[in-house]
Amino acid sequence: MGKRRQNHIVSSYVTTFLAAWCSFMVFCLWPGPVCADKVDHEETCRRIAGKLASVSLKDCLADGIVSSGRYSVLGIPLLIKEYPPLELREPQARVLLVGGAHGDEYASISIVFKWMDILNVHHSGIFHWIFVPLLNPDGLLREQSRRTNARGVDLNRNMPSPLWREIGYERWIDVAERNPRYYPGPYPMSEPETEFLVELIRHFKPHAIVSVHSPLNLLDYDGPGIPASTLGSLRLRRLGNFPGTLGNYAGIEHGIPVMTVELSSSGRLPTSGEISSMWRDLVRWLIDNVPIETEPEEIMVEEDRKELERRFFGK
Ligand SMILES: [Zn+2]
Repeated sequence: MGKRRQNHIVSSYVTTFLAAWCSFMVFCLWPGPVCADKVDHEETCRRIAGKLASVSLKDCLADGIVSSGRYSVLGIPLLIKEYPPLELREPQARVLLVGGAHGDEYASISIVFKWMDILNVHHSGIFHWIFVPLLNPDGLLREQSRRTNARGVDLNRNMPSPLWREIGYERWIDVAERNPRYYPGPYPMSEPETEFLVELIRHFKPHAIVSVHSPLNLLDYDGPGIPASTLGSLRLRRLGNFPGTLGNYAGIEHGIPVMTVELSSSGRLPTSGEISSMWRDLVRWLIDNVPIETEPEEIMVEEDRKELERRFFGK
């Protein structure tokens, strides 16, 4: 399949999800228990803006930020924004950028909105982007925000890597001493937010993933290719990974480079100069290094989730 054809298919990603969402909304004109627990886009943005001082309702309702058609455990839409290929330019690569996997890392969500502001003005078509500003809305939007989702699962320990149980889950017991902040879930990809991310990676087939966290004040990197040495004032310090993390799942298992941006503070956003400088360094790194030579492998999906669930409860 030619690259252009593939891009065309990929660019219809949001359209497909939107169609599913619209059918859902039509269905939900009928009152009933099925619909009672879903929150709409505007209300979601109202809650996000109420929680994050540096994200306004207008920022969140901006053009192009849409519901993916997928929802958190508590029925909050998982928002995405796509910057599709431009008509006259073949993109160099597809890039997925994800914030807010951990609900108490406020700056990791706010900075994604700031970077979207920059890209809104400067999208030149060199990359085909999808942004997920907030993977874990339930963790953020609780009265007391927390790292884990509504079922107490750490989404960055719940990715469906091989050896999830043997290494990832066991590590939670032995090393994390069952600390609930790092609970990897009952089985891999048990959570709708994780399943959404896996499906997004499978459909979009990014050549690179940027994942934003805080407050470790460093730049981490998993997978093939050459890491950036700096991003603004952040310096590369590779932490390694283990089954259940996005770095392991995408970087090691599927050969997609994962750059993890660990901001220096969860509560304080970097200065606007630093936010721009990080963005410039990120784009420069992408231009020079992505796509890498190897092709991402086929990625597991829906059927695999059922198999994972069966294996877990079978033991
Ligand atoms: Zn984090």
